[in-house]
Amino acid sequence: MLVVDQKSLSPAEISPVRPALEGVVAYRPGMTLAQAGRLAGRTDLAKLASNENLLGCSPRVADAVLAALASPEIYPDPYCETLRAAIGARLAVDPARIVMTPGSEALIDYLFRAVLHPGDSVLLSSPTFPAYEIFARCAEARFIDVPRRPGFDLDVEAFKREAAKGPKLIVLCTPNNPTGNALSGVDLGEILAVTPRSTVVLVDEAYREYHDAFDTLDLLKAWGGTWVSGRTFSKAYGLAGLRVGYGICSSAQLVGYLDRLRPLFNVTALSQAAALAAWDDQEHLARTVALTIAERGRVETALDVLGVERTASAANFVFLRSPAGAEATAARLLREGLIVRPTPVPGGWVRITIGRPADNDRLIAALPAALAV
Ligand SMILES: *Cc1c(COP(=O)(O)O)cnc(C)c1O
Repeated sequence: MLVVDQKSLSPAEISPVRPALEGVVAYRPGMTLAQAGRLAGRTDLAKLASNENLLGCSPRVADAVLAALASPEIYPDPYCETLRAAIGARLAVDPARIVMTPGSEALIDYLFRAVLHPGDSVLLSSPTFPAYEIFARCAEARFIDVPRRPGFDLDVEAFKREAAKGPKLIVLCTPNNPTGNALSGVDLGEILAVTPRSTVVLVDEAYREYHDAFDTLDLLKAWGGTWVSGRTFSKAYGLAGLRVGYGICSSAQLVGYLDRLRPLFNVTALSQAAALAAWDDQEHLARTVALTIAERGRVETALDVLGVERTASAANFVFLRSPAGAEATAARLLREGLIVRPTPVPGGWVRITIGRPADNDRLIAALPAALAV
């Protein structure tokens, strides 16, 4: 209920918002460095809670942003033409089928608002990224949840059974946040094969750069319905603070609908310049991705030596079960200056982002005590 100071108002008057919002639990972000610093009483912090790329973005980004800063009085290009052309050229996609968004979270919001009517069904597989539930609830949709199997792989057969019934929207996150599991091309192809073309398919590929095992776009195109592949500059490209994501859509018409409901100038000029510079520096991307994957292996080996249960992550984080419980482990690591993400997944599951090598050294050193019962 909305809090107001006029006590004489009736319940209807004090809650002018849509009732659907009463059922929405706001996303709980990871701690900021400032919050963690206050709690831990130290400044040597490693932020391993939000899957940012701590190796940083391309060094070309700073110059591009400074150049864009020369004319802050001018509105940005509302259609991000240069950026979409660059993305389209490398991916061999018509730029008319690409929509740029202030982070791919906004893409999820736009798509859900564009296609979901109250009462429509959204098929997903938990545990997964909380934004789907938040935006689906805002749109007054219903959920069909096909829980993941032990080990958190998608239950492909159960998912196919639900997909075949033709829900309004299907969300597949691969690699999946927070569990790290990736879907295989074969499994995605089988799911699409049974999905009616009246269903809208969102494949969230926020971590695609860490695992480009197969061509999602080919599979989606071959399926032939309405679909979006969601991607972002926030993770491997290292630009989370500048908010740039994009959707590759099944048609220019779909982009046109998203253009109608999105704020027109939603990606700032600085963000567009930064994303273009990052996109053009694929060597940097390849280097950071390779280093992250190598470092992930080092952290995984340390976990295995400790006998800790974990998933086979295909992204820039590990997902592990703490015998001490998720909250206790996160609190202990915070005292060591390491911010990690306890999750509500039953059993004590914690998500930890792969940081710089020195961050990972600290993590590996702190893990035995942090996980001990
Ligand atoms: C981080 C993340 C996003 C979105 O991040 P943006 O910063 O909004 O681009 C989307 N989906 C998943 C699964 C993510 O982990």
